[in-house]
Amino acid sequence: MGQILPFTKQVLKNLFSEPATTQYPFVQREYPERTRGHVDINKDQCILCGMCMRSCPPGAIKVDRAAKTWTINRFDCIQCGYCTEKCPKKCLSITPGYQEPGPEKFNYSVEVPYEPPKPAAKPAAATAPAGGTKPEA
Ligand code: SF4
Ligand code: SF4
Repeated sequence: MGQILPFTKQVLKNLFSEPATTQYPFVQREYPERTRGHVDINKDQCILCGMCMRSCPPGAIKVDRAAKTWTINRFDCIQCGYCTEKCPKKCLSITPGYQEPGPEKFNYSVEVPYEPPKPAAKPAAATAPAGGTKPEA
């Protein structure tokens, strides 16, 4: 009898309390504010400078200037946040949430619309008339 009372109390508590789990994926999880989920890029701000790639300790980021792509291997990323500090345009951020599970590994890649500035055209050289200038009388 002494064991039935706590058991009954627990059963009643479980019956009338909210479930500890959610109906994922129908109910999206709300992550705590400081969750280190994944690195995101604002591709419109990126200038393909490669600072994030050079500063990433495990080498998870690849910036290809010729192909104009920014790519991250999320399995290599350790969420240290170093790339977000190093980016001169502040277009990287660590946001809550994780990459959706899938049947195979893949790298997340975005095309960056950045157009590098064209080199300024050289000013046309001043052409002197053939035979030099005629002295004034
Ligand atoms: S958070 Fe760290 S490990 Fe992940 S991409 Fe940025 S620098 Fe690399
Ligand atoms: S994300 Fe930032 S650091 Fe990385 S290539 Fe773009 S501008 Fe440079």
